[in-house]
Amino acid sequence: MKSEARVVVIGGGVVGVSALYHLAKKGWGDDVVLLEKAELTSGSTWHAAGLLPLFNMSYSVGQVHKYSVKLYGELEQETGQPVGFARVGNLRLAMNADRMDEYYQYAATARTIGIKVEFLTPEDILRLWPMCNIEGLVGAIYHPDDGYIQPADLTQALAKGARARGATIYRNCAVLAIEQKSSGAWLVKTSNGDISCEHVISATGNYARQTGQMVGLDVPVIPVEHQYIVTEPHPELVERRKNGEPEMAVLRESDGSWYLREENGGFILGPYEKGAPCCYVDGPDPRAEYELFQEDIERLAPHIEAAMNRVPAFGEVGMKRVYNGAIAYTPDGNPIIGPAWGVDNFWLNEGHSFGITAAGGAGWQLAEWIVDGEPTIDMLGVEPRRFGDYATKEYLIEKNEEAYSHVFVIHYPDEERPAARPLRAPPCYERLQAMGAVFGQKFGWERANWFATDGMEQVDDWSFRRSRWFEGIRKEVANVTSNVGVLDMTAFAKCRITGPGAEAFLDGFVANRLPTKVGGIGLCHALNNNGGIHSEFTIRRDAEDSFYLVSAGALQRLDHDYLQKHMPRDGTVQFEQLTGSQGVLVVAGPKSRRLLERVSGTDYSNEAFRWLTAQHVRIGCAPANAMRVNYVGELGWELHHSLEYQNHIFDALFDAGEDLGIKPFGIRAMDSMRLEKSYRMVGTELSIEYSAYESAMDRFVHPDKGDFLGRDALLAWQERGISNKLVTLEVRDVDDADALGNNALLHNGEVVGRATGGGFGFRIDKSIALGMVSPELASEGTELEIDILGKTYPAAVIQDSPFDPKNERLRDVGNAND
Ligand SMILES: Cc1cc2nc3c(=O)[nH]c(=O)nc-3n(C[C@H](O)[C@H](O)[C@H](O)COP(=O)(O)OP(=O)(O)OC[C@H]3O[C@@H](n4cnc5c(N)ncnc54)[C@H](O)[C@@H]3O)c2cc1C
Repeated sequence: MKSEARVVVIGGGVVGVSALYHLAKKGWGDDVVLLEKAELTSGSTWHAAGLLPLFNMSYSVGQVHKYSVKLYGELEQETGQPVGFARVGNLRLAMNADRMDEYYQYAATARTIGIKVEFLTPEDILRLWPMCNIEGLVGAIYHPDDGYIQPADLTQALAKGARARGATIYRNCAVLAIEQKSSGAWLVKTSNGDISCEHVISATGNYARQTGQMVGLDVPVIPVEHQYIVTEPHPELVERRKNGEPEMAVLRESDGSWYLREENGGFILGPYEKGAPCCYVDGPDPRAEYELFQEDIERLAPHIEAAMNRVPAFGEVGMKRVYNGAIAYTPDGNPIIGPAWGVDNFWLNEGHSFGITAAGGAGWQLAEWIVDGEPTIDMLGVEPRRFGDYATKEYLIEKNEEAYSHVFVIHYPDEERPAARPLRAPPCYERLQAMGAVFGQKFGWERANWFATDGMEQVDDWSFRRSRWFEGIRKEVANVTSNVGVLDMTAFAKCRITGPGAEAFLDGFVANRLPTKVGGIGLCHALNNNGGIHSEFTIRRDAEDSFYLVSAGALQRLDHDYLQKHMPRDGTVQFEQLTGSQGVLVVAGPKSRRLLERVSGTDYSNEAFRWLTAQHVRIGCAPANAMRVNYVGELGWELHHSLEYQNHIFDALFDAGEDLGIKPFGIRAMDSMRLEKSYRMVGTELSIEYSAYESAMDRFVHPDKGDFLGRDALLAWQERGISNKLVTLEVRDVDDADALGNNALLHNGEVVGRATGGGFGFRIDKSIALGMVSPELASEGTELEIDILGKTYPAAVIQDSPFDPKNERLRDVGNAND
């Protein structure tokens, strides 16, 4: 066995082999090795049903699946190895209007990334699927380009393609331990000897947690049992084949939570049942191969019944075999593809529940990341660091079972799932709840999404359209605009960077100039190596050598890992995690100054407390740091405090503010207000796919300040020419739905961009969207169209920050707030 390689891939399922194939394809063939403890495909891959659904609500997963399906179509020709790709199409049925809305929202993403879909009436369905009972159907979405494949053959084809480019595969070679040497190189210890390498890719399926433990990682993957039934042949299907009729599309009844396809003249039925348990919670036996579990027919029964109702022929054939196997899961059901946190050059390609479909795209992006240093598509949706320490084993069991049972639920954009909650709650949680808060969850934290007041039921009302909460938010925004509102943002990620090297490090890390004075605040972006935006930090200078950094709560592990991986390792810079110890209450609105002056001895006037500065203050009796920034475009301060003071501060504000009209507001009101200010957000308007200039962040980027991460690449990108520009759009003629993001933007019927976010602006009383379009269409006044839930509406490019474009309210210029 080789003793050295550039990359070692652990795991010979379809996912690991695809990573190997793509590394070889990028020219590293002679230097990449795959280790499989048994035979290729002996994990979950051999028993998969082989479906290749393009449908997925996530932008990242959509891109990954799209690439795979294209690659698989070409693989047989490239390698000479048949892969059994039956491009029979894929038909998803809808039994209600909300389901159709889900399909329309998905279709918008599909349209912007170039996936072909068609919408069908019940009668059209009959043409494609004559054996389908169309009773109770309102329509369907059809993907003509996907279908199913033979997973084992696909894996062998990828292996053949990798070997042909010089890659090496060792079967019957178990990885037993992994150590990192002081040089940073990895030493992979196997049953057949040791191999040292620069990079390790973990693609070990159901063993993900055991592999992670070898390097001290708590990988958020636990599999769930998944079953499918193979039936005896049905005479009608056999007859159809004899007559040369085409195989029917893979059929999915989302509302009945099952899929059905033809198999050797019979059917395969795969349900996603409620109550399917996690399995291998402490990992499979190291010797397990081709393992299946005892079937559970009782759990399948409701789905069998639903399928018999929809396709009566299915009820006319006997069951031949039930497969019950382990399918890897994460808490949100999407895989984890990318770098591990806390360790260098250790890559995760795990948690694949649609691994046959995702393997191609996952391998492609991972190879780009490892060989070129960055992925080329925005991988936030599958980022391994989107989960945190809160994802313990018990949490994973609850959430992964929930994710499995939710595969076919309607994926509302404002859906909030209930399992394992509340988990992380700020001290003011009960107070907010008593005030009507309807909570959501981000990175394990409970956050008030909106407030049910005036007799409204305190439950959410998920929809693709404006729903009950719309009026609640209108009131919250109105109160922030005319009085004062309080928003709990304790979930923000917070940390401190200190040390004699802190300033030089941060200056070379972010594109903006750092605040020079103690108490100064700056909005700073860390780019990636290509000049796209990776992270956004609000940076407060607390001393010559001490900086306090705040970033999006959902991105805590990602942002902090990015920081730490770029920090010098010579001890001149220290990182301190503050997320769990610092609370944040935002006080915003024209009366916020009057309120704060009542509870605090500080002068909050414009002269004494300037925009983008911070001061140590007291609120009631409690110490806090007031930062004059906010994300809603009103006069306001963020009060950062040690968590133990939170309720004291909260009560002091509400006691003193009653006659000022103080009321809480939630995340959805904040989002509406940030859209009116055209404030960008990481993951939507800010992404590695867009250069900082495309996201129109020019005033936060200072190439003349000296070198910083991504600077030269950004300038080179600018030199080559940019292909997008961020615009704010006014959407006209909508009455019950706003853009949700990923909507196609059109000009003369041609797709010319995509909306990155959208919603209703209550202060300007307009439906608005932010979006990326070709630069020549970015000037104010340009008339475009936007696709919202399958309908096209006029949308005009308007000036940035349609609400208070001169920022007079937040700066309180000319006493705009009196
Ligand atoms: C019943 C069922 C039906 C499914 N149907 C579909 C479908 O239709 N479409 C779809 O896209 N997906 C489907 N899936 C999911 C799919 O099977 C998985 O997502 C996919 O096989 C995952 O591939 P993998 O390579 O990540 O894992 P695996 O195939 O499990 O491969 C992991 C490999 O790592 C090896 N390994 C682990 N630890 C070590 C070690 N220490 N040293 C060396 N080797 C090690 C294992 O032996 C194993 O071969 C289905 C799953 C089930 C259970």
